[in-house]
Amino acid sequence: MAGLYIHVPFCKQKCTYCDFASFPKEIGKVESYFACLYREIEGRSKQYKDTVIDTVYIGGGTPSVVESKFIMGALRQVRKCFKVKDDAEITIELNPGTVDEGKIKDYKSVGINRFSIGLQTGFDDQLKRLNRIHTAKDFLLCTNLLKGENISADILIGLHDQTAAQVEKTIDLAIAGGVSHLSVYALTPEVGTPIYTDYLNGELLSEDETADIYEHVVKYLKGKGFNRYEVSNFALDGAYSRHNMNYWKRGEYIGVGVSASSFMENRRFTNTFKIDEYINAVIYNKSPEISSDMIEGDDAKFEFIMLALRTADGLDTAEYNKIFNEDFDNEYSESLRKKAQFLERNGDKIKIKDQYLYVQNDIILEFMK
Ligand code: SF4
Repeated sequence: MAGLYIHVPFCKQKCTYCDFASFPKEIGKVESYFACLYREIEGRSKQYKDTVIDTVYIGGGTPSVVESKFIMGALRQVRKCFKVKDDAEITIELNPGTVDEGKIKDYKSVGINRFSIGLQTGFDDQLKRLNRIHTAKDFLLCTNLLKGENISADILIGLHDQTAAQVEKTIDLAIAGGVSHLSVYALTPEVGTPIYTDYLNGELLSEDETADIYEHVVKYLKGKGFNRYEVSNFALDGAYSRHNMNYWKRGEYIGVGVSASSFMENRRFTNTFKIDEYINAVIYNKSPEISSDMIEGDDAKFEFIMLALRTADGLDTAEYNKIFNEDFDNEYSESLRKKAQFLERNGDKIKIKDQYLYVQNDIILEFMK
């Protein structure tokens, strides 16, 4: 069983904080890009024969910016090449202002049953400053088209002069739109993005201020019935993302398209970030991969620990012992002793105490060999 990720690297315009593989100026290459995607899907299905797909995630970029026939084609190709479970979770990322009734109908007709909307903030001045293409009202118009569907929204914290009260209002807006899942990410000013200059100029919130907002968000969302099941992810009962859970459980997944990563048979590999290089590789029957590593031994163990400790459920030592044929408590007795004050134990389960989940990096690094 595996997840499948499909990358759609097109957007209307570039947001100021974006360092994802998305190319607004390359929109003219949609046709050839999707032709290559279909081909890569077929190729990967032959490479990993008999793989059953449990979840599909169409991300980007902005998948909803392209005509729905391309998305429908990609999903038809997936079903033609792989066995897809009847109850598969199939998610598409949308940006407000890029969908209409027709597109949503098309998406649903090919089995898309989860919609992840990039809201980021409910304040138009902040949206404008981030160079987002939409307003807060556009978000509600978008959720209106999705009434009764399984909806998630992304929210950013750490923006210029952002207050906890503003984030509360953004959450209220998302809830008014009917979301059952929220991803709340701290803005990371990456070198080379326009927002990096704002960061250097001290215009963004500090790490401490952002951490305070995050703690506020956790409490506020709890009051609204949203449980934190991973450091950045919150859901009403049963509405957690199966696709993401598979990543955190170190399950297998195949990624197709520009910049997509895969993890299959203990090998992690990533495709080129350049759209022309991707198209050329696929057309000439060459691999679009630019990196490939076998993840074994201590690296595999650390990955398992790191991913599990990011989740609210924590790490199952019995599962660890079974997978790696080891005794976790014995192997990591020193790390467990050193970080005891941050950890909580319940039978076989070890988790980072709720109040330390946001600052888990230091704790997790202690388990690196
Ligand atoms: S919509 Fe997303 S992928 Fe596109 S430019 Fe903005 S942040 Fe980047």
